[in-house]
Amino acid sequence: MKSYNIALIKGDGIGPEIIDEAVKVLDAVAACENIEFNYQEALMGGCAYDVTGDPLPQETIDISLSSNAVLFGAIGGQKWDTLPREKRPESGLLRFRKELGVFANLRPANVYDELVNASSLKPEIVKGVDLMVVRELIGGIYFGEPKGRDENKGWNTMVYTRPEIERIAHVAFKIAMERSKKVCSVDKANVLDVSQLWREVVEEVAKEYPEVELSHMYVDNAAMQLIRDPKQFDVILTGNIFGDILSDEASMLSGSIGLLPSASVGSSIGVYEPIHGSAPDIAGQGIANPIATIASASMMLRFALGENRAADRIDYGIKQALAEGYRTKDIAGFDAKEVCSTSEMGSIIANF
Ligand code: ATP
Ligand code: MG
Repeated sequence: MKSYNIALIKGDGIGPEIIDEAVKVLDAVAACENIEFNYQEALMGGCAYDVTGDPLPQETIDISLSSNAVLFGAIGGQKWDTLPREKRPESGLLRFRKELGVFANLRPANVYDELVNASSLKPEIVKGVDLMVVRELIGGIYFGEPKGRDENKGWNTMVYTRPEIERIAHVAFKIAMERSKKVCSVDKANVLDVSQLWREVVEEVAKEYPEVELSHMYVDNAAMQLIRDPKQFDVILTGNIFGDILSDEASMLSGSIGLLPSASVGSSIGVYEPIHGSAPDIAGQGIANPIATIASASMMLRFALGENRAADRIDYGIKQALAEGYRTKDIAGFDAKEVCSTSEMGSIIANF
């Protein structure tokens, strides 16, 4: 029997509720696939600050680095918003990503057939959307030097080096090989010098993946095309700031923030988490949608552990639950057979 160590960081707000459902589903597929998960819980965010005075205790880093993958809920909440910046939950998360060296952020956006009417776009435009944004996460204009401001001027610098572009491009092409073998690299090469290098390096990396069809698009056009005809995309490869914007835009195609997973991966341990935050406004009520977190557990199985069959089982369970009309409150407006609680939804998916 294969055995995996999973670090569980439940966090704040709805974090514990949704992680519990993901664990329920993981245990159900483990039983079918003859694998085993050993969970180790670690604190991060507001709950960690309350207990230890630090939003990211060293123990959490140690536990994470000695695991096969990290399953992460969400952190933060009003209660901690007035703390000095380095004590706030969010600074713990940024430090955590840095400690783990996760340079690639994978954000799938898919539209479930059963929820095509949930998107604000027309069903014929979103039906069948299944794309993946691969965003560079620890470089680009958010980190480039020089940066600063004085009384009358503010400045940031978009910098990418050849190795930074190469490693993120490899991630995108490898993912494309497992999907529809199409990469659209998004940049602003008509204006930015850094984008010209980006394009050049992506072209070079593409030579190692002759089966993958590569195209390039300017970011302004990509923003438009995501709304006009999102089905044209398979893998979108892009830098930090463009990916930040485009991945949020793409997520709205699906209809609810409670549906989509994400992964942040690099050279060591990957972090798998829902795209939404800790939703303090609904915490403790048992109404949060656990699907984004359950789908994150599926991504973890696929990308970190190579347990594709177990991941397929989870994806199937999610689709079946929706096909049979089960809905949490956030997606209940759309032909709900039954509005179910967080834990009912988890159990239904676990039982498929
Ligand atoms: P953060 O800064 O952590 O991203 P936020 O307030 O910007 O927090 P969320 O915490 O994601 O964003 O919440 C945004 C809205 O979406 C809230 O109204 C929240 O209740 C809702 N929401 C978020 N996640 C879920 C979920 N899993 N199920 C249902 N509703 C959700
Ligand atoms: Mg937010």
